[in-house]
Amino acid sequence: MATIIPIADLRSVARPKTNSELLDALLDAAASDEISRADTLTDTLGRPLRDLRISVTDRCNFRCVYCMPKEVFDANFKFLPHAELLTFEEIARVARIFVDRGVQKIRLTGGEPLLRRNIERLVEMLAKLGELDITLTTNGALLARKAQSLVEAGLRRVTVSLDSLDDATFRAMNDVDFPVAKVLEGIDAAAAAGLAPIKINMVVKRGTNDSSIVPMARHFKGTGHILRFIEYMDVGATNGWRMDDVVSAAEVLRMIDAELPLENADPNYAGEVSQRWKYKDGSGEIGVIASVTQAFCRDCTRARLSTDGKLYSCLFATAGHDLRTLLRGGFDDARIGNAIATVWKGRADRYSEIRSANTVRLPKVEMSYIGG
Ligand code: SAM
Repeated sequence: MATIIPIADLRSVARPKTNSELLDALLDAAASDEISRADTLTDTLGRPLRDLRISVTDRCNFRCVYCMPKEVFDANFKFLPHAELLTFEEIARVARIFVDRGVQKIRLTGGEPLLRRNIERLVEMLAKLGELDITLTTNGALLARKAQSLVEAGLRRVTVSLDSLDDATFRAMNDVDFPVAKVLEGIDAAAAAGLAPIKINMVVKRGTNDSSIVPMARHFKGTGHILRFIEYMDVGATNGWRMDDVVSAAEVLRMIDAELPLENADPNYAGEVSQRWKYKDGSGEIGVIASVTQAFCRDCTRARLSTDGKLYSCLFATAGHDLRTLLRGGFDDARIGNAIATVWKGRADRYSEIRSANTVRLPKVEMSYIGG
């Protein structure tokens, strides 16, 4: 596939703000007149705040080549010390403030969220916040052990990442020699514990696992699980991303449709990230997440909270708003809510729509830290 470099107005990405400039602005925002909670909070492009993704740890037990390559995330890599992580109490507090400002769905992610000790306790605390859709994304390695206790804590859904059914391919992609069978065990345990529907995420990288697309579709067809194909993205600054490595969602759909006929299905709700496709024989559905070839910034309602409590308004951001300073600095909930509202009202991010040779080189934060 040819390298695509879209023509774009790059003025807004010319000089990203630093963390300390953002902190100054955040402190000003917290101190300013309170922003009304009566109306839906929307950003400069009219997008409401609906979803919050929380990275509960920047550590992972996998070294997926496209996410946390071993060459960078090695024994010398400095992960966050424990004191820098938000505590469960801090996460639950800030989540409550987000819910108060319109968030309806929370996803726990990372890093690998099941590595955070007693994660069930956090799920339990979040489940008490009200009518919230709480879910979690995991590589599945610890899921067989944890599925039942997560359900008991109040988790209702889960997304499991699995990039191939071919053991050699999968072991090479996770780069810690982890077998497919153990992830499948985790998926079965999650289903047995009542987590449903289970979503399976497969990141497709050309020449690495594209031959696994149809076998994955065949395997999960008819199981009730929803397999989603994700276009390989230029998140972070360590995975050596090239457009040539991206297998487009259109290509994925053509490959599957040729063998297992598909038809388009309506989205479940406006702004759904994944495009839905149903098997014509009624045996289930798949999804494609075309974040590179068909950017969906226009509908993006997601805020992200990093492991150390920084608020990011885009997966491709270069700096975040330090909510931890407010949480630990004696600011009350109203002030913190005000700061969050100010950040959201000023949000103009649309990175994927303006992706270009220049933006790909920006010093973006890593997905393991900001939360995938
Ligand atoms: N450890 C958990 C897991 O493996 O699902 C949660 C964190 S992981 C960063 C979340 C999701 O992001 C996974 O489905 C992963 O495959 C996806 N991901 C990571 N790097 C990506 C990239 N460069 N492009 C597209 N998806 C990516």
